[in-house]
Amino acid sequence: MATSGGPRHPDPVPATTGPVTVTTTTGPVTTTTTATTSTVTTTTSTTVLGGRARAALALDIGGTKLAAGIVDATGAVLGRARRPMPKTLDPEVTFAAAVGCLHDALADGGFGGPYDYAGLAGLGVGCGGPMLWPAGEVSPLNIPSWRGFPLRARLQEAFGGLPVLLHNDAVALAAGEHWMGTGRDARHLLAVTVSTGVGGGLVLDGRLYHGRTGNAGHVGHIVVDPGGPRCACGAYGCLEAIASGPRTVAWALEAGWRSPEHPAEEAGADGADGRALAAAAAAGDEIARAALARSGNAVGVALASCAATFDLDVITVAGGFSQSGPIFWDALRAAADRHTGMEFARAVRIEPSTAPNDVALRGAAAFILVPERYAWVG
Ligand SMILES: [Zn+2]
Repeated sequence: MATSGGPRHPDPVPATTGPVTVTTTTGPVTTTTTATTSTVTTTTSTTVLGGRARAALALDIGGTKLAAGIVDATGAVLGRARRPMPKTLDPEVTFAAAVGCLHDALADGGFGGPYDYAGLAGLGVGCGGPMLWPAGEVSPLNIPSWRGFPLRARLQEAFGGLPVLLHNDAVALAAGEHWMGTGRDARHLLAVTVSTGVGGGLVLDGRLYHGRTGNAGHVGHIVVDPGGPRCACGAYGCLEAIASGPRTVAWALEAGWRSPEHPAEEAGADGADGRALAAAAAAGDEIARAALARSGNAVGVALASCAATFDLDVITVAGGFSQSGPIFWDALRAAADRHTGMEFARAVRIEPSTAPNDVALRGAAAFILVPERYAWVG
């Protein structure tokens, strides 16, 4: 469903972005001069060419769902689509779902057909890690059909050579929060997502911070309990192993809680049990309350360490499980307060995401639309 009325097909972008060619007619003689210093490239933003707003395709790939959109230079989502992630071990089935979701978004945005994308500047993608970056070969922990899958190259091929930039989904979230979201006034930002997994991305000095291999910001694997359980990454005591939705549900089940969504042996496989746990906590269930408080506490401990390490303006928190209500948030804030001592770290703002459904799409589009801040520059 689109969010704006009126014509939704953006104007095609002029193909020429180099020096300006000026043609003047003087009587019978036509002279053509080419400016050696372009004035077009000195406009304030690369998101505007010749006064026309650009737009980009965006794709957010999660373990349980795909979301696609067309995002313009103002951050407006002109067309959008969602599909469940197919449960398959066939990499081509998963890829076909991703391409289909993008085609659905093009149709929703008023484009003429699945191959009508001439007016788009590129395709930005956020996908679960790990991945080889910036090559874009992905092996997401929660998408077993893709192991070393050349997603960036395949998407570029499928969309007629359109530029494709791909990054970790939590890094896309950070770009989105900084560009148009909760952290848009911040110079130093950490965006965290607490969902099926726990992820994060960093904006430092106003630019996305990639790290040596593109993996900076993996806050889910900060150790919050050295004696804690083993994590999917292979290490022990990671934040994700304690605070993610499925791990929190698993802890509650072990303590005797039962989800109305699934029998105990099947619970925790999707977000439904996490939502049921939040509902049970709100209704006063003691085990559910303790489980959410345990998760929020672990996140708060990790964020306190991040505040001390990076000297941040703001930490934004998104993800389905972060919307579990005040028990989670009270524990998070209490732990962050208890574990920050120095004044600069105590000054960090910790805020829920204000647009959790669109911020990841906007961030993926920002890789394309605002490259000076969010694209890899080598
Ligand atoms: Zn880990």
